[in-house]
Amino acid sequence: AFDVLVIGGGPAGSAAAIYAARKGISTGLAAERFGGQVGDTMSIENLISVPYTEGPKLVSAMEQHVNEYDVDVMNLQRAEKLIPAETKGGLHEVRLANGASLKSRTVILSTGARWRQMGVPGEEEYRNKGVAYCPHCDGPLFKGKRVAVIGGGNSGVEAAIDLAGIVGHVTLIEFGEQMRADEVLQKKLRSLGNVDIITSGQTTEIVGENGKVSGLNYKDRTTGEEHHVELEGVFVQIGLVPNTEWLKGDIELSQHGEVVINERNETSIPGVFAAGDATTVPYKQIVISMGEGSKASLSAFDFLIRNSAE
Ligand code: FAD
Repeated sequence: AFDVLVIGGGPAGSAAAIYAARKGISTGLAAERFGGQVGDTMSIENLISVPYTEGPKLVSAMEQHVNEYDVDVMNLQRAEKLIPAETKGGLHEVRLANGASLKSRTVILSTGARWRQMGVPGEEEYRNKGVAYCPHCDGPLFKGKRVAVIGGGNSGVEAAIDLAGIVGHVTLIEFGEQMRADEVLQKKLRSLGNVDIITSGQTTEIVGENGKVSGLNYKDRTTGEEHHVELEGVFVQIGLVPNTEWLKGDIELSQHGEVVINERNETSIPGVFAAGDATTVPYKQIVISMGEGSKASLSAFDFLIRNSAE
């Protein structure tokens, strides 16, 4: 059995494994795909002390760093079930899709999340070529340009307000008859001079030229009319889905499916911790996930020294 078993190999899981191994305790890491969302990222400009890097480069640097330590890395392994210990300090079990079962005195859940996609033509084709999901990450790439934000919930409206200060013009497109964001955010958005708000708008296609986004088409859901907007970027803000379906019923999740954690990364199960995008931590970013993974690991170590099996 492990002392610490980390599920997930993104920034949170990598940090957790390194912090655990540095305590000299037996550490395992199982990940469906080592690197996580970072592997899908082009340029990264907000990892402090690294002014510029690229996703695949950061993934191999994380992998190299984890491999500096005695971590049992099980890549390409999907966890399917968590069976919590029957007694505090006892062994938790994690079942993998390949039928194997791993046991550990503490578990750190760091299975991350995925952006919900619109599923319209052009979205996949122009991903990272004008189609973006993270305003904190990619907003500055569209300085002075025209962008759309898809989605009028809190994240969409926050993104539109944020982007309006950087880009030339923002068109927000909400599917419903009205935006769903908090009124204070809507009011702020309406006060901005370079923002158009379209409600009852259904995005039907992202169009491009020369391999880059050049506009989008949307349908007015009340009149059925099709419209075209010329722009250089589209930020899709229709939800971040945590990879926690496999934990349902075994651990406390928020209404959005995030693992509920406190400031010590403790979950509803003693000895099970969680970190990163899969959790209720506000703001989902690489540097935050790395910090959260480290914190979860230190909490797991603290748990171990207070609940020794003997
Ligand atoms: P993830 O990176 O999502 O990693 C989750 C890990 O868990 C993966 O290894 C995955 O395979 C594994 N996993 C999932 N389910 C299971 C399972 N059932 N069993 C086993 N393993 C499982 N952030 C920035 O700070 N700067 C940026 O520039 C930036 N750009 C981004 C660009 C894009 C296109 C995207 C999608 C995200 C971007 N982000 C950026 C956000 C950043 O990537 C995430 O905040 C960060 O990766 C979260 O780390 P994590 O470890 O919590 O989760």
